[in-house]
Amino acid sequence: MICPVCKYDMIVVEYRNIELDYCNSCKGVWFDSGELELLLKSQGLEERKASFDNIINSQEAASAEKKRNCPSCGRKMKKTAIGGQPKTLIDVCRDKHGLWFDGGEVAQLMRHLAGEHPPKDDSGGHVVNFLEEVFGASESK
Ligand SMILES: [Zn+2]
Ligand SMILES: [Zn+2]
Repeated sequence: MICPVCKYDMIVVEYRNIELDYCNSCKGVWFDSGELELLLKSQGLEERKASFDNIINSQEAASAEKKRNCPSCGRKMKKTAIGGQPKTLIDVCRDKHGLWFDGGEVAQLMRHLAGEHPPKDDSGGHVVNFLEEVFGASESK
């Protein structure tokens, strides 16, 4: 799959049966629809899916950021704001092929989801750890 930002070939990162496409150049991450769900599930965060759907289905956010094309269908993706300060904008394919996160935005999303309903057992931290495990190694190079 080609990175929607810099057009380099992305690498497939497989971790605990979840496949992500990762761009080594800009550190962006593409989640196929379903993969993020698997990620939430694997971390025991299924109940966060509703807040996640809200993010996906929310109105297009006004932004000066450049529109990006879905690496799957090539159509322009929608900018969607997730909460937090400063706001983070992610790109979502309108045909639900998946979501694009610029480098660092995945962790922000996870912190946001975890923070909305603080888990008793700090399971939100597990997702952040998961992502740090997946990406920490490649970023420290
Ligand atoms: Zn890239
Ligand atoms: Zn698409």
